[in-house]
Amino acid sequence: MNMHQYYPVDIVNGPGTRCTLFVSGCVHECPGCYNKSTWRVNSGVAFTRKMEDRIISDLNDTRIRRQGLSLSGGDPLHPQNVADILHLVQRVRAECPGKDIWMWTGYKMDELNAAQREVVELINVLVDGKFVQDLKDPALIWRGSSNQVVHYLR
Ligand code: SF4
Repeated sequence: MNMHQYYPVDIVNGPGTRCTLFVSGCVHECPGCYNKSTWRVNSGVAFTRKMEDRIISDLNDTRIRRQGLSLSGGDPLHPQNVADILHLVQRVRAECPGKDIWMWTGYKMDELNAAQREVVELINVLVDGKFVQDLKDPALIWRGSSNQVVHYLR
């Protein structure tokens, strides 16, 4: 997997103070996408074990308390990202007790394959669906257009 950006302290992508990772790769090509530079899977830089370790350590940092991890992009559920994202969320679950995981994807919940669902079973909140410019509403919280749904899973 490749990534574009990591914010160790973020207060805009999800509730509370969070760590946020923007990964590379998206097949959805939504007109008006806010993050077009992330579409190619080989854009950005490699997501390394060192980066993964840093996220775990930041989530457990008691000096700046984080509520959890936000995963966005690009699309964390792009088929090429699923294995690395699964490994990351499994580690967060095992090594960061009490931290929540939010994820943004262009897929709809009901079109996820088995591998993507395995990831979703480990997260707390999934914001799903493509961004639709005609349904854009700046008043919406955690989503860009009204077709997208915030699924509070657990
Ligand atoms: S799903 Fe998100 S990142 Fe992908 S094209 Fe649509 S708005 Fe852009």
